[in-house]
Amino acid sequence: TYQYPEINIIADTTTKMSKNVKDYLNQIEMEKQIRQEFFSNASHELKTPITSVQGYAELLESGIIQDEEQKKEFLNRIKKEAANMNNLINDILMISKLETKDAEVLKSDVRLSIVLNDILDSLKPLAASHEVLIHLDCKPICIYANSQQMKELFGNLITNAVKYNKPGGEVWVRVREEDRNLIVQVKDNGMGIPKDSLSRIFERFYRVDKGRSKKQGGTGLGLSIVKHIVNFYHGTINVTSELDVGTEFTVKIPIHGKV
Ligand code: ADP
Repeated sequence: TYQYPEINIIADTTTKMSKNVKDYLNQIEMEKQIRQEFFSNASHELKTPITSVQGYAELLESGIIQDEEQKKEFLNRIKKEAANMNNLINDILMISKLETKDAEVLKSDVRLSIVLNDILDSLKPLAASHEVLIHLDCKPICIYANSQQMKELFGNLITNAVKYNKPGGEVWVRVREEDRNLIVQVKDNGMGIPKDSLSRIFERFYRVDKGRSKKQGGTGLGLSIVKHIVNFYHGTINVTSELDVGTEFTVKIPIHGKV
């Protein structure tokens, strides 16, 4: 009679072990699928600009185009497609770096007002061409982090707030500390995001309006990179949006203790 409980325990452990093995194998299979999907999407995204560059180059080479203005226009399109490919490759490299878990990430005390002023300076031409005004309200805060990652994180959010805005639109960037957390809010009064797209915008290559994103040099990877960086610092990101009213992203990152 004493043996029954023992047998039960052994049977129970075996079931648990095989469940763990199954979960592990499922996870490997899922990761493999995600990676395959990523490569297939990335190749597809690169193929489109390569095809148009080839097309324009062949047209110019054929001598059919005589008009100097049209030749210039085609050369400009080649340059624009090359810039898009460059953006895409940079974003892919950034994602791959963020996913290499043991990659060395150099951290230091980063003064956020300096990072944000640098971002706003480099965004001046884009904001001017979109006729968008950016306001910054930044409390003096230091965070122990990688400054390049901070630039990437807030640069992507602010660039989007400008790109998906309308002429005469505004962007408000607010940086403060609350309960030992860094809180950054990026709010715009632009086009907004449809409700059924809100849960998908952080997915790789997801765009609400593919044409518009591509025209702006977008890769569909910006918010996925943002999410990766926020996770890296054990933070959270939330978004609220209303069509034709605007969008607000809120990033919360713990700032005390070395991350
Ligand atoms: P993209 O390179 O296309 O900008 P992102 O990953 O940065 O890619 O953003 C994904 C999509 O989310 C964009 O294509 C755009 O449709 C939408 N989006 C992001 N930010 C905003 C915003 N502030 N206002 C409206 N739509 C936005």
